[in-house]
Amino acid sequence: MKRMADDPDYIVELPGVEDAAASLEEPRDRRKWIGVRFECCGTYQRIYRNRSGTAYEGRCPRCLRLVRALIGPGGTSARFFVAE
Ligand SMILES: [Zn+2]
Repeated sequence: MKRMADDPDYIVELPGVEDAAASLEEPRDRRKWIGVRFECCGTYQRIYRNRSGTAYEGRCPRCLRLVRALIGPGGTSARFFVAE
């Protein structure tokens, strides 16, 4: 995924029991996540799916730049991205 913040690709959520069992109190370490490398600071961070399940959202651990990867049909099933 290139230019993640400006022109987000969509991510396909693979069907699974996790979704059916998802609850409002889903523990953080069981939430779905993707790995993002932040080119701005040369750091790596996991970002987690938001409450509404529409996107993965997170911030660069150093400069706190916000990145978002929308979830939707026709997207990629990749789980690691570069935020340039
Ligand atoms: Zn940064």
